[in-house]
Amino acid sequence: MPAPKRFSKFREVQAEIEKNGSALFVDKEGVESLIVHSPYSIHYIHSYAEDSPFFLGLAEGRLRGSRCTNPECAFVYATPRSHCMVCGEATAWMDLPKEGRIHSWTTCHFGSEAFLKETPYNLAMVEFEGAGSLLLVRLKDCVESEIFIGMPVEARFDPNPKFSITDVWFVPKAAGSPAKSRRG
Ligand SMILES: [Zn+2]
Repeated sequence: MPAPKRFSKFREVQAEIEKNGSALFVDKEGVESLIVHSPYSIHYIHSYAEDSPFFLGLAEGRLRGSRCTNPECAFVYATPRSHCMVCGEATAWMDLPKEGRIHSWTTCHFGSEAFLKETPYNLAMVEFEGAGSLLLVRLKDCVESEIFIGMPVEARFDPNPKFSITDVWFVPKAAGSPAKSRRG
């Protein structure tokens, strides 16, 4: 077997191991790591349990948050949450606005297998009017240099839903686009 070739970029390592099964990754300090191709497969049966309405909602183009049912608290979460973190009371489902603003964001230069084809990709914490917590989602249709904190964004839903958080992503809100309904 020929000696593995050396690479300093992990994407080149990925291409090499797909082709030849092994490669040497050399990091910035010159440390060499032998990387080998080692496929495995898992079929995991997962229950979303009480989070299920969130994922069923995505498939219908709805973004659901949770609101504390204690009227003196009424904290709104931009994620599924069965009980309030502030007061402990049960929450009820509610529809979040389909648009919000970038609270913070990052560009990912590494990703799990599902995201390799779109790497580098952008992840954003989105804030919604009336909600007290944030939603972590992918941000598409824009490049790193165009993103800024406070940027208006709007939701897009996968027309072929897979009942996964990847069924929703956000894009920059089109300039001059009419305000969408906040409900449903
Ligand atoms: Zn509460």
